Amino acid sequence: MISTSNNIKITEIETSRISEVDFNNLPFGKHFADYMFEMDYKDGAWQQATVVPFRNLSIHPATSALHYGQAIFEGLKATKNEADEILVFRPDMNAKRFNESAIRMCMQPVPEEMFLEGMRAVLKQNSAWVPSAEGQSLYIRPFMIATDEYVGIKASDNYKFLIICSPVGAYYSEPVKVKIEMEYTRAAEGGVGRAKAAGNYAASLYPAKKGLEEGYRQLIWTDAKTHTFIEEAGTMNVIFVIDDVIITPSEEKDTILKGITKRSVLEVARDWGYKVEERPIKVDEVIDAIKSNRLTDAFGAGTAATIAPISEIGYLGVDYKLPAVETRTFSNKLKEYINEYKLGLVEDKYNWIFRV
Ligand SMILES: *Cc1c(COP(=O)(O)O)cnc(C)c1O
Repeated sequence: MISTSNNIKITEIETSRISEVDFNNLPFGKHFADYMFEMDYKDGAWQQATVVPFRNLSIHPATSALHYGQAIFEGLKATKNEADEILVFRPDMNAKRFNESAIRMCMQPVPEEMFLEGMRAVLKQNSAWVPSAEGQSLYIRPFMIATDEYVGIKASDNYKFLIICSPVGAYYSEPVKVKIEMEYTRAAEGGVGRAKAAGNYAASLYPAKKGLEEGYRQLIWTDAKTHTFIEEAGTMNVIFVIDDVIITPSEEKDTILKGITKRSVLEVARDWGYKVEERPIKVDEVIDAIKSNRLTDAFGAGTAATIAPISEIGYLGVDYKLPAVETRTFSNKLKEYINEYKLGLVEDKYNWIFRV
């Protein structure tokens, strides 16, 4: 059956695959919901928006994204509240950031409204896949690839924008031991670190693997030029509490990804009366603060875990232990509040909840 809603053409599935999935045992990103959103850009315009049964793509071997990496993505989550409504946390921010990534990668922006309406349509079709059990959610992955069938280097004339959805379980973020990375670099000034570009993640795998071999679960990236300033924690933004001040590297530099979780944490912190500073942070400042017991909290902030506590920091061969997670009033309080906020359990005082 084919129907249209809001100019989005919907093709119904024949039978749902949902019974194949064990919702009590959900691995991250391995199962995909029945429907996906798909829309192509060609002849200078976005074509018919569609919601279609999830299926493999058939692409030409010369598809330019496969060769030169014009590929970007977003990541966000949908949950269901007690009234069975589907809630999404700040997707307008993802739509904006997606287009900032598109512009940096010389790709075609997706009208924000189409990003949001496409997401709404695919979530409605996938409604049964949005879990309501504690901690579970439907992970939403919008992405775009360049689809010119051409092995010459140029910005593609054709693009494909898709939204796929994957039910995921509670993300237990055990406190992680991290290493201050002094050799490899995630992002250099003038580069593409601010974009959620596929290649950034490919580039981080080798240093991450080396870190893991040395016993570190994640890397703290430092600036490309001097390796003396802290930038991010793996694929999350990083936040410290030193002398009761919440500090995080400023976004002014184009090497820092503008995280929505971090932005939300800082807005709430300011509202709660904490002093917040977004500024350059030297590695030495953090190490000194640990040594003199002035650092009381350190965590990564990102959609996957919301808040991922850091338990230990390795720097130049020495491992520095951080205060026990139970003692961290700031991040514990914030994590609880933001997680409840996403579930619609507290008042939507910042207007952050998008209802499907
Ligand atoms: C996605 C991402 C983040 C976190 O962004 P959120 O919007 O909070 O999920 C931080 N750093 C990098 C490098 C990322 O890719």
